[in-house]
Parts: sequence; structure tokens; C-alpha cells
Amino acid sequence: MTPDDFAAAIRTIPDYPKPGILFRDITTLLGDPRAFRAAVDELVQPWAGAKIDKVAGIEARGFILGGAVAHQLSAGFVPIRKKGKLPHQTVRMAYVLEYGQDEMEMHVDAVAPGERVLLVDDLVATGGTAVGAVKLLRAMGARVEAACFIVDLPDLGGADKIRAMDVPVRTLVAFS
Ligand code: IMP
Repeated sequence: MTPDDFAAAIRTIPDYPKPGILFRDITTLLGDPRAFRAAVDELVQPWAGAKIDKVAGIEARGFILGGAVAHQLSAGFVPIRKKGKLPHQTVRMAYVLEYGQDEMEMHVDAVAPGERVLLVDDLVATGGTAVGAVKLLRAMGARVEAACFIVDLPDLGGADKIRAMDVPVRTLVAFS
């Protein structure tokens, strides 16, 4: 599928969650069997046959994609969650939101030092969330091989921030 095909599979909701925001709703893509399969196939394509130990997905839509990507790569899956949701001992990382900041967590034993990890989320905007996730994974000794997203909002510069951390970024469609 082309970037235009992916764009057509994504619904845009004006003024959600706040006035002036154009929310890119990927649930329509997830509900389209051909588009969902194509998106997962395209995201994993550079790593087919490569040794990826773990796929880390960011709550919540990154879980849906990350689970499918992990299955396709025969990798394990690591959930990165909002604070307070994981039952075992966690490591925590502050991250910057458009307005303010929050904290994300993963289990201390979710990745072993030196493991090769692919980071997955649905969309990169300012990059604050993904940058926090890269820092968290690296704090546990993981090698973050790349970060993958269906949607890039390039005007917000997030993908460039991730690349500046020496993490290659793969996205399937951009909305400017
Ligand atoms: P960032 O930290 O500014 O890059 O925002 C990315 C995070 O916010 C991701 O976890 C996305 O799921 C979520 N997000 C921000 N804007 C949108 C949107 O328009 N559609 C879907 N998710 C969004």
C-alpha cells in the first residue's frame, strides 16, 4: 500500500481531544483487514530475518501494533505503560508532553542488557513519548535498533528528535 492508501484508511477527527486539534484516528485502519496487515508488514519489512529480541509497545495503541509486529518477527513483547499499572518492580522515566510532563514505566526485568529492541507506537508528534521510551529502554541496557510508527506529524519534529538519539525511524504516512 502507498502512503496515500494508508492516509485514506485513517480517520481524522477535528477538535479532539481539544478545540483546534486534528486527531488522527487509526482505529479505522486497524478495522480494515488489508490495511492492518499491510501496515504491520511494512513496519517490519527492514527487520525481516534480523535478530530482534523484543518489541516494546507504548500504551495503548502501541500494544495493538507492537503485539502484531512482535509476532511477525518472532520476538518477545514489552509493554511500556503509564505509571502505576504494572504489577512487578518497575523502572520509571519522566517524559515531556505538549503541556507538562508525565512518567512511564516498564518492568525491571523486561529487557536484558544488550538485547535488540524495536520500539513501536501508532503515531509520533512532538516525540516526547518516544524519546522517553528510548531513554527508559537504554537505562536498562537495551539496544534500541529503531522506532516505528504508522503516522508521522513532521511539523512537530518528533521523528527528528528520535533520529538525533541515533535511533532510525520508520513511518508509513505523514500528515502536514
Ligand atoms: P508525542 O509524544 O507528542 O510524540 O505524542 C505521541 C503520543 O501521543 C503517541 O503515544 C500517540 O498515540 C499520541 N497521539 C498524539 N496525537 C495523536 C493523534 O492525532 N492520534 C493518535 N494518537 C496521538
